[in-house]
Amino acid sequence: MTLARRLLVLLLFCVVPVLAVSQARPLPGPDVQQIYQRLLPQIGKIPIFDHHAHPGFPDDPDVDAMASPPGSAALRERDTNPELVAAAKALFEYPYRDLSPEHAKWLIQKKADLKKAEGNQYFSHLLDKLNIEQSVANRAMMADYLDHDRFVWVFFADSFMWPFDNQRERARNPDEQVYIPLQERMLHRFMQQENVSKLPPRFADYLAFVTRTLEDNQKNGAIAEKFEVAYFRSMRFGDPTLEQAEDVYERFSSGGLPSEPEYRTFQDYIFRYLVREGGRLHLPVHIHTAVGIGDYFSLTEGNILNLENIVRDPRYSGTTFVMIHGGYPYEREAIWLAAAKNVYLDSSLMEIAMYPSEFKHAIKQWLETFPDKITFGSDSFPYNETLGSEESYWLGVESARSALAAALAEMVSEGEVSEVQAIQLAHGYLHDNAVSLYPGKVH
Ligand SMILES: [Zn+2]
Repeated sequence: MTLARRLLVLLLFCVVPVLAVSQARPLPGPDVQQIYQRLLPQIGKIPIFDHHAHPGFPDDPDVDAMASPPGSAALRERDTNPELVAAAKALFEYPYRDLSPEHAKWLIQKKADLKKAEGNQYFSHLLDKLNIEQSVANRAMMADYLDHDRFVWVFFADSFMWPFDNQRERARNPDEQVYIPLQERMLHRFMQQENVSKLPPRFADYLAFVTRTLEDNQKNGAIAEKFEVAYFRSMRFGDPTLEQAEDVYERFSSGGLPSEPEYRTFQDYIFRYLVREGGRLHLPVHIHTAVGIGDYFSLTEGNILNLENIVRDPRYSGTTFVMIHGGYPYEREAIWLAAAKNVYLDSSLMEIAMYPSEFKHAIKQWLETFPDKITFGSDSFPYNETLGSEESYWLGVESARSALAAALAEMVSEGEVSEVQAIQLAHGYLHDNAVSLYPGKVH
């Protein structure tokens, strides 16, 4: 036997059996249930970092920089969802089997009593119950009833894009009539914070004000800046020059109505400026990239792929992007943006909009593509007194854990990963991947 042939035989003996067991299968085996049952309790023990949530009480106006007009909620997000009874039982030992108005009174009273007794530990105790170690608080302003060791602030940065006369912006549709005044209010709060009494006449001074606000928010504990710009305009951003933006600003900062293209030119520049500053300040940029609530949200203009020219622009390679809500319902395309080293996805909203049986497919495709770039978020939000932040934290966490366990069980059963690797992937998604983006600031 020649040496070459001997090597070939050796190769066949050594490699062929390995290949035979490592060939992934297209269907899970009969063991998938048992693997799921083994994984689920281990996943439940992983302390979570919640990368996107709006904790707060329903009467707190600082929860969001934007209000939600009555829109058409998807089936599972309606307050008729019977899972909310399960949430109330798990969190508050709710004794009833429905949330009829008279029964719901019990729940509202129970929460009020706990709030009184626990003060600024009320929401921390909620995190304890759900094994959430820390949660982002994406809020207009931080609340003193949230313990700053457990809740980290992410502020809204959109308002810098709406400094002019917004008549035309408001008139576009009834949703904008609600949204735009709130952006104006947010901008004025930032101006007050920075002792800026009116818009400075020079563009350079406006940019300096923007930067100072970012820096001061960061000093006040903010770990990221957040955009929900898709609610107010297209996510296709052009690339105007400084001179073009300056020209629009200096003509309209003291009054007058910019044309639509003029306003867009200015906004395109400011958005890119905020993205660039996010890189310079190590302040990651969170962007709402999913379908939105309300009657006029544009799926086409809000499509995550409109941001490809931004996130793949080498000038912003120093900026960390977190694509909030994973581009849903375009999450299968969205995961490919995470090929860029500075782009991450967050699954908040997805695990609530979809039932676990369907979210399982989405998270599995993500885990099979860029598992180190995906992060968990609950999108907890105080919709009303019965469907509060509390219940939406519960729904997000429970749904994500069960869908994650199911996706990983299939991957193990189909021969894609070992059980040990599956648990490592779960740690990454629920905690480690997000925490790595804010070194020294979160844990
Ligand atoms: Zn949100």
